[in-house]
Amino acid sequence: MEKIENSEFDAVKILVLNCGSSSIKYRLYAMPGNLDIAHGQIERIGDGDSQASQLANGQELAVRRPISDHQAGLELLAEMLTDPEQGAIKNLTEISACGHRVVHGGEAISGSVLIDTDLEALIEDYFDLAPLHNPPNLMGIRAAKQMLGDIPQVACFDTAFHQSLPKKAYLYALPYDLYADLRIRRYGFHGTSHRYVSRRAAILMGKGKYNVNLITCHLGNGCSVAAIQAGKSVDTSMGMTPLEGLVMGTRTGDLDPGITFYLCRKGYAEKELSRLFNKKSGLLGISGLSNDVRDLEIKANNGDSRAELALEIFAYRVRKFIGAYLAVLDGVDGIVFTGGIGENGGRMRERILSGLQHLGIDLDQKKNYSTTEPEREIQNGKSILKIFIIPTNEEFAIANDTYQLGILGRKPTLTN
Ligand code: ADP
Repeated sequence: MEKIENSEFDAVKILVLNCGSSSIKYRLYAMPGNLDIAHGQIERIGDGDSQASQLANGQELAVRRPISDHQAGLELLAEMLTDPEQGAIKNLTEISACGHRVVHGGEAISGSVLIDTDLEALIEDYFDLAPLHNPPNLMGIRAAKQMLGDIPQVACFDTAFHQSLPKKAYLYALPYDLYADLRIRRYGFHGTSHRYVSRRAAILMGKGKYNVNLITCHLGNGCSVAAIQAGKSVDTSMGMTPLEGLVMGTRTGDLDPGITFYLCRKGYAEKELSRLFNKKSGLLGISGLSNDVRDLEIKANNGDSRAELALEIFAYRVRKFIGAYLAVLDGVDGIVFTGGIGENGGRMRERILSGLQHLGIDLDQKKNYSTTEPEREIQNGKSILKIFIIPTNEEFAIANDTYQLGILGRKPTLTN
């Protein structure tokens, strides 16, 4: 990566933070121009043997020492960013604004928001619906405030893009009071990714962002599909929590609720069920081998039938959602694949889309397996729908929203 001192893009530096329960991922951008100046991660926070790594100006930096909490994690991040040899900036005062990934914003939030004490209270209000995510997200916001002082901080919510879902798509068929009293409904997640790739697809098609109907498939460790009508999310596979919908690396996706009662009767407690459904199921659970599609493809090619079955079930579930969303949408321009599996898994894309010519979906195998252009169309000339691979870039989307809202003081355009 080139040194960007004296660059015209050097004017504003935006720090993007993604604070998880035991990790902090970060990326420093120069805006406008979207130049990635530095990125890194601090892992195993609170573990006694934390590890951090950073890449800035082509220089790698690795640190291993105990990091007790997010405050200490951000102190290390500051040290790494300002490291005289391998850092990216001389002083933290060079950072003009900070953007945060926040998982749950509930029903009140439909876009990115400048952070103030009211918003902090709202994030806290959703602790019970996102107990693994919102608490560390808020910890990161508070630690960043303390470290970076009085600069604009912006929150970008995973749930925000899906707030356009109509009631028929977000309500479960439970007694209505459970929605009214306990906020039980579909919220959807991965919203920043679905929004970003749908905006990119609109650009690639030369259409306005509110002029496209798409099915976007985010297939990573967590997986979700979204139905996008006129640029807005109208349905999505994840639900009140990120457990619903597709088969994932270690999560079940859709499950008959009756299985829960049955397992309770067999002696499973809530914690065990949560671990079973979140950590031991999905590709890992079916194959008994791995949650990683790459490993499973090697095993399947060597004749392992459970690995093959896991991949087949994964693909079948995505295919079912594509079929469902073709019916939900009022015409579809294209299907978008993103996330680690969506972007890199040529064989998985083939499994998902093969034999769908009768629905106007026709993959060009050469384009599907080509690796020259990460962002590309992969349908053949007979396909009615376009099929895109679009690498997701949630950090850029957050940086852009932060720049637009925090620096320019206007509503985000490209990514909103
Ligand atoms: P996260 O959801 O944690 O951000 P990613 O989007 O990076 O995860 O996706 C990670 C997954 O991508 C891995 O578990 C692996 O299954 C899959 N993956 C990565 N590279 C390939 C590849 N070349 N072929 C198939 N799957 C891949």
